[in-house]
Amino acid sequence: MNARWLTRFILLLGLLLWLTAVAAAQTAVSPLRNEALVNYPNDVRFVLELPPDTAVTQATLRYDVDKVSCLDAAAQVPVELTASQNGLTADWTWVMSRSGNPPPGTSLWWEWVLTDDAGEQTTTPRQSLTFTDGRFDWQTVSEDGITLHWYRGADVGPLLLDAAVAGLARLENDMGIELQNDVQFYIYGSAADMRDAVLYVQDWAGGVAFDEYNTILIGVSPDSAADWGRSTVRHELAHLVTGQFARSCVGGSRPTWLEEGLAVYAEGEPTADIRAALDQAQAANNFAPLRSLNGSFPAHSDEAGSAYAQSYSVVDYLLATYGRAAMQDLLLALAAGRSTDQALQQVYGVNVDGLEAEWRAARGLPERPYPPTPTPISAAAVPTIAPLGRPASLPTPAAAAATPPPASSSPGVSVCGLGLAPLLLLGGLGVQTRRTKRRRSRP
Ligand SMILES: [Zn+2]
Repeated sequence: MNARWLTRFILLLGLLLWLTAVAAAQTAVSPLRNEALVNYPNDVRFVLELPPDTAVTQATLRYDVDKVSCLDAAAQVPVELTASQNGLTADWTWVMSRSGNPPPGTSLWWEWVLTDDAGEQTTTPRQSLTFTDGRFDWQTVSEDGITLHWYRGADVGPLLLDAAVAGLARLENDMGIELQNDVQFYIYGSAADMRDAVLYVQDWAGGVAFDEYNTILIGVSPDSAADWGRSTVRHELAHLVTGQFARSCVGGSRPTWLEEGLAVYAEGEPTADIRAALDQAQAANNFAPLRSLNGSFPAHSDEAGSAYAQSYSVVDYLLATYGRAAMQDLLLALAAGRSTDQALQQVYGVNVDGLEAEWRAARGLPERPYPPTPTPISAAAVPTIAPLGRPASLPTPAAAAATPPPASSSPGVSVCGLGLAPLLLLGGLGVQTRRTKRRRSRP
């Protein structure tokens, strides 16, 4: 063996020794057990067991779930090490009933930062799992970035996926708003099944949208899928996609007439209910001042139905008259933190009152007098708020619901509807949620 080969051999040997040492350092704190025990949707218990001869003196749990958020930092929890049969154990439970549970399909990761008696820190390999609602035998279909899970009614999944894809196409073609992140639908076979997957949801809720997770849960019985199910899927998808497109981390928000008008528009051609509500308000000349629809919608279902119809009509007017590029500019100006008046002025050259006057003229309605100085909607009247910039909302009752929703059951609740079927949408749960109530019946 010549000198050059000897040098190479020594270098190789050194490398092997170093790798062995690195491996030894890592295995020095090899846990006997490192797992997360999921009791969905209630809690997740993290358990770490270390051997008796470990030099570890401190353990900090780090965990987080995959979501879209303006401010997202992993949770860091120092956990006490206690002596157990096998050695030392760290045991900590994330009680989701305190924070609100993430929806099914959400990924969770966790790792432990371990500090030994010499102050050296080691981090265990990051592990992950996905929350599932194991009560049901889920089937899945997907297309165009939309994945839909369901378990009841053979035709329900394909039918509702088709509705979602059609709704997405209308959003893209007519409004130029495209899906930014994939969306998951979990279609439960009933509102009751769905509610059991979500902590702290009202007992009349028929759907919940988790904006930060791009996930929508709706309870759709097979016999309501073709009608209520299809329109609800399109309506909720519009809220989610608009929220993605115009996400605001500076506190920007959309007026309710715009938010709901876009969602009703996305449902498709106006239903008989919407047309009837427009005809009635037109004949009686009793449309609400548009400015009054910046905030919460009326709780009474007839007035709420009229508010949705009017909102749809104003959005339809804006799109037909000024096109989709202007609508995108409006949404982005609002997301940038402009007020509704400022954003409208910037894009269309009029404020809310000016827009209302234009829209009324286009419908052949007489002029309505406006106060010289617009009265701002009080902050208290505006729902949710949301770091994500969308008004909160919520619905009416399910086809079979015994009790109607309380008019103001929760802080930040406003009424959101599907056509004339009011829908309550809520922000809360620590996650940005919107709950869809199921309709009692068509008027
Ligand atoms: Zn809505």
